[in-house]
Amino acid sequence: MPIDTKSLCKFCGKEDFLVVPAKERMLQLSGEFQYRECLSCGSLQLIDIPKDLANYYPKESYYSQAPLVYSSRLKNLLKSIRLEVFRILPIPFFSPSYGEWLRKLRPKKQDRIADIGCGNGQLLYEMYASGFRKLEGFDPYIPETKKINDSLQLFCESFESAKGTFDLIMMHHSFEHMEDPESILKVCFQKLKAGGKLLVRTPVTDSQVWKEKKELWVQLDAPRHLVIPSVQGFSQLSEEIGFQLDEVVFDSTAFQFWGTALYEKGKALNPDLVQSLFTDSELKEMHKKALQYNQEGKGDQVCFYLIKPIKS
Ligand SMILES: [Zn+2]
Repeated sequence: MPIDTKSLCKFCGKEDFLVVPAKERMLQLSGEFQYRECLSCGSLQLIDIPKDLANYYPKESYYSQAPLVYSSRLKNLLKSIRLEVFRILPIPFFSPSYGEWLRKLRPKKQDRIADIGCGNGQLLYEMYASGFRKLEGFDPYIPETKKINDSLQLFCESFESAKGTFDLIMMHHSFEHMEDPESILKVCFQKLKAGGKLLVRTPVTDSQVWKEKKELWVQLDAPRHLVIPSVQGFSQLSEEIGFQLDEVVFDSTAFQFWGTALYEKGKALNPDLVQSLFTDSELKEMHKKALQYNQEGKGDQVCFYLIKPIKS
């Protein structure tokens, strides 16, 4: 396959790179792929993007296509009380699934919030249940545009089509599925109010598992992951666009170890296999090691907290 040697790193703009071969492993579909690994910043980008990527997101098996789970009014009331308690008393027992990001971002209930690559909208629904009232999801891969209720709407569109400006924009593991990191970060910058915040959660090549296992790394996820930045590459690009990078928090989990181990054993990414292949104490060790990797800055994913400066 001919390689376009003239293309530049999408994060730092440099041109020297290594070629890393990769296979689709999550669903064991056919196909071989190649990534370029930037020798300057260490970021990755898929060299030849398949024309019909939708084939790699089969509806019956891809995790983001699961139906939205609604909860009762009573449960929603309890969720909103729990959030209020967590805001006053930030201990893990009261933390909702999004508690950690929320504690840092401190959005108000009436803030306009977007989730790019929202999938079935479950995270936004949980935020609605906890009292947030202006929530919008964007995802060209969902079946249709849908108004869930007066506070929450899901758009079967890319974020470029969103109207007006937002207080908070989030990308939870959708950034790496987009071809052009500069373009999506610029759109986010334009659509944020001055002082608005952007949260990008993504795998990063600072990962020790990536360095050790290369194409068997579970979060390489060819060919769905089109780009994977390094912390250095992402910082450089976002700051060039005008963002202030407020904080980088590693939040990797045991998944980096058991997912990669499944690929080493030639298995698909089937979580049902985990209990039969690993003992409880092995899984506990993986969890401990993930926490340690996060502290040492070598876990395989991060949260980037960015701010659009008031004077930009
Ligand atoms: Zn680079």
